[in-house]
Amino acid sequence: MGCLGALFKKNSEFAPAYAPPTAEVKRDVCEPKQVPASVPKEVEHFEPCGCSDLSSAFARMSAGDADLPAYEEFSEFKDDAVRETIRKTIDSYASKLTEISLYISDHPEESYEEHKACAKLTAFLKDEGFDVETPYKKLDTAFRASYSHGSGRTFAFCSEYDALPGVGHACGHNLIAVSGVAALLGLRAAMKKHDIKGTVELLGTPAEEGGVGKGVLIERGAFKSIDASMMIHPTGLMGGRYGVGGIVPTLAICGLNVDFIGRAAHAGMAPWDGINALDAAHIAYASVSALRQQLHPDVRVHGIITKGGDRPNIVPAHTRMEYYVRAPAAASVKDLTAKLTTLFEAAGKATGCKVQTEVTPMMYELRNNGPLSNHYASVMKDAGHPVLVALDDFTGAGASTDFGNVTYTVPAAHPHFSIPATEGKANHTPEFTERCRSPKAHELTYEFAGGMAVTAARFLTDDEFAKEAKKCWEKDMERVGKP
Ligand SMILES: [Zn+2]
Ligand SMILES: [Zn+2]
Repeated sequence: MGCLGALFKKNSEFAPAYAPPTAEVKRDVCEPKQVPASVPKEVEHFEPCGCSDLSSAFARMSAGDADLPAYEEFSEFKDDAVRETIRKTIDSYASKLTEISLYISDHPEESYEEHKACAKLTAFLKDEGFDVETPYKKLDTAFRASYSHGSGRTFAFCSEYDALPGVGHACGHNLIAVSGVAALLGLRAAMKKHDIKGTVELLGTPAEEGGVGKGVLIERGAFKSIDASMMIHPTGLMGGRYGVGGIVPTLAICGLNVDFIGRAAHAGMAPWDGINALDAAHIAYASVSALRQQLHPDVRVHGIITKGGDRPNIVPAHTRMEYYVRAPAAASVKDLTAKLTTLFEAAGKATGCKVQTEVTPMMYELRNNGPLSNHYASVMKDAGHPVLVALDDFTGAGASTDFGNVTYTVPAAHPHFSIPATEGKANHTPEFTERCRSPKAHELTYEFAGGMAVTAARFLTDDEFAKEAKKCWEKDMERVGKP
């Protein structure tokens, strides 16, 4: 089976039809969540839903404009031999990788509990002769696998392998896990054969769906020696089709948890002795609602009261609210977080309650790097897989990913690719869990992973391209005002 054959041949097979799922498979159920002590406490309960709903972004990608991904070349760059090596290598590993992917799908594990997935992946990588470090940066389910050929730049791929409660690998992280391995294997072979100097790394990054795992790894220095990074993510149909891709932004997001502490009293006999924490929550909720009128339309603030009191005849002594703040730029999220904190303080003052506000670590918006994205799109276009590049178009962006934090750390890109799925049953649905097990989904994963390895090979080889990527990233960070 020529998994990467399409990297070289025009492939016009983009039908919205999909293969029916294979027979029902028995899978483990996620064990109760045990957050390791090494994970900062404030990230434990942050579950913003990591991934992107790209349906609206791709609704406009009709058959007519499918072959029009915007990209430009920076220099003449010939890499046919490198592509061929990458294709053949990934092809030769396809059945082993699919076995690992299905094992991960059969054993879904939630954020920071991905022990089986991590063990499976690292055992394979050790067998393949990579230098493997796990646990990595004091995270039990993180790893780093690397290969160096002389000295040069370092390119890192990221693999994710956490699942969702109840629906297993409904975000296709089993495919993401092996896409990183495929790219690592392909690039290593190309570095050896074509004498490409530098280092390639695969970072196993836990807790994307809940926990901002990449944020923790960045804070602990995992990206200090990395020059650029990429990962790919499967989605449902884009514009009704599979086998196409997109590089579009996601939103920055932050969570706020606020506790109002008052004093209990009998609500009928002695309400004057009480300090009403529900009044504080009520005033806070109303203040945020009033603020909303002055917010830009692309900003989202949404919250709930998770503790509102115990009985109507007791003046509530403790209430708790949880909010999410989303915006197209991390700097706006930071500003808004400060505003909300002030409103909570004011609600406390108005009612005499004590206020404790906890702000969870931010997931930054995706700032996909222009040169990396454009070269990847051109490689995939050559392979007959059009990729829409819309670096600054937040139309339809509704979700977030912790790879956004990576794009704020080094030049990086996070392309999506569509697999055969049922229309309207994309990421985070049980139907998508099944679709991420199909042979076609795996075949596409290896093809798009090949494009990632080819892009990384260019970054290691072509000084001008690497410089352009860095320059573009610096400009982006200056423009968005890196917080
Ligand atoms: Zn997801
Ligand atoms: Zn995901």
